[in-house]
Amino acid sequence: MTCKSNKELQNIVNEVRPLTKEGMVADYIPALAKATKNDLSVAIYETNNNCLYAGSYLKNFTLQSISKVLVLALALQDRGVEYVFDRVGMEPTGDPFNSISKLETSIPSKPLNPMINAGALAVTNMIRGESEAEKWNRIISFVKCLSNKKNLSYDTEVAASELETAWLNRSLCYFMKQHNVIDGDIEELMMVYTKQCAIEMNCFELARIGAVFALNGLDPETGERLIPIHIARICKTFMVTCGMYNASGEFAIKVGIPAKSGVAGGILAVVPEKYGIGIFGPSLDKKGNSIAGIKLLEILAQQYDFSIF
Ligand code: GLN
Repeated sequence: MTCKSNKELQNIVNEVRPLTKEGMVADYIPALAKATKNDLSVAIYETNNNCLYAGSYLKNFTLQSISKVLVLALALQDRGVEYVFDRVGMEPTGDPFNSISKLETSIPSKPLNPMINAGALAVTNMIRGESEAEKWNRIISFVKCLSNKKNLSYDTEVAASELETAWLNRSLCYFMKQHNVIDGDIEELMMVYTKQCAIEMNCFELARIGAVFALNGLDPETGERLIPIHIARICKTFMVTCGMYNASGEFAIKVGIPAKSGVAGGILAVVPEKYGIGIFGPSLDKKGNSIAGIKLLEILAQQYDFSIF
């Protein structure tokens, strides 16, 4: 059993909120620098559709890297496991999420996993669709089903801000195009990728997505299958091995559940069969993870014995 009440959860939020002072909001995407540093919110969506929340849980934020795991789930459905992993590897890198170095040294020349930027860009390139608009529509419709947010959209300011400044991501794309990992027009790919990163929701809606993964791909309300079971498993495994960037090993020891973070401060976490958890805390540690969000999960994991190991 997790917290018995919103008040109990709020007490944990109050306890860890001072940590937000020690981190920094992301500013390499200029629009993200406007975030309020001491924001912190959490929602726990139980697979029986009961929900607990604390903090400003209705505040919207952009998914950023959390979108990588959702788009991977769609690409695997679109192309199949073999096609996807012919082009993207399955191994953690130990490097920052935007690192370019191993693209050159890995043999064969392909991104090491779908949770780093290079791998995620290659995965977005695999989404089926005749046009950039069709690919985007398929992504947003899929995330709408997972979150059950009918009017799900993206933050146009954040997407434009990233598109204007994403020189490193463009470099990764050109490198991969040279090595036949990706094809097509790079600017169109960048448009889809920056929109997927700018998808906006609150931590309650994110927690609901977590509940879908907790149920191995089933909608917690209707029981409908939204993700095939083998794909839900692949996604959760990547969340364990690579979901918290180059802090994934430490997170696995201290918390021990599948999780994926984003530089806007979101964390999607999954306690198999039991809960989906959504967190928003934009103050980040040096590796780009929500500093208070991680502490919050550590406390919850300890108190309620979350670890899957
Ligand atoms: N949109 C961001 C980028 O590509 C996502 C990175 C992240 O959340 N770690 O740089």
